[in-house]
Amino acid sequence: MEKKKLHIRKNDKVMVVAGREKGKIGTVLKVIPRKDRAVVEKLNMVKRHTKPGGKSAQGGIIEKESPIHVANLMLVCGKCAEPARVGHKVLEDSSKVRFCKKCGEVMDK
Ligand SMILES: [Zn+2]
Repeated sequence: MEKKKLHIRKNDKVMVVAGREKGKIGTVLKVIPRKDRAVVEKLNMVKRHTKPGGKSAQGGIIEKESPIHVANLMLVCGKCAEPARVGHKVLEDSSKVRFCKKCGEVMDK
């Protein structure tokens, strides 16, 4: 299988376009290319039960972000402030960047 690169990267601002968090915007904390998923800050929270003892003295319920499939995430353009169709182009210094197809704003700084 061809090695692919995800269109979402760490620190990207993304909108969820499907599922129970649809329409919400958050910042990508981590991408998991192997699973085609990304962890988005404060989105898709799930409750985890922890047992007393070990690191947590009391145990109980903690909330944690659950990874979201990247197919359900769209990059948000900082200038348009809405999900953007993203294009790729190569700059003069031969670095590859992503840009918003609507306003032309370069998304990799
Ligand atoms: Zn834009």
